[in-house]
Amino acid sequence: MNSAAVIVEADPPLWSQPDTARLRTLVGAGAVVLGASWFLASGLAEVRQQLVFVSLSLFGAFLGLAGVAGWLIGGRRTVRARTRLLLGDAPAAASASGGPVADGFVAVPDARWFHRADCLLVKGRDLVVSARAAHEAVGRRACPACAPTPTVVPA
Ligand SMILES: [Zn+2]
Repeated sequence: MNSAAVIVEADPPLWSQPDTARLRTLVGAGAVVLGASWFLASGLAEVRQQLVFVSLSLFGAFLGLAGVAGWLIGGRRTVRARTRLLLGDAPAAASASGGPVADGFVAVPDARWFHRADCLLVKGRDLVVSARAAHEAVGRRACPACAPTPTVVPA
């Protein structure tokens, strides 16, 4: 009973009630403007007379698109805030540099590529760790996906 309240607090909806109301209002208004301009233009034979209704329908389409864009931006903002809350800020340069973990790169035995230690192509596999020269000596080449390059390890 008490845990349900905690779950509700920890997992609020992605969009708030005003976000959803704004989406419905803008998409609905855009649809009404589109429908009205179609209806009003349908009886006119001259293209010149229909032009104002084409402009009106473009405005209606813009209203709907603006509503959806605002809704998606609000959702992205919420996801970004939750991600930051869950994962914290990104680590500085340790994983971004993509360099070797100790002083070598990794490879699957008998494979033709060597990788950075954090390469997704070797995640969860049995690996050998060696220096770049050792990998190249047995004929392995640098993984084109993770592009292992030597990094300068601060002293
Ligand atoms: Zn790789």
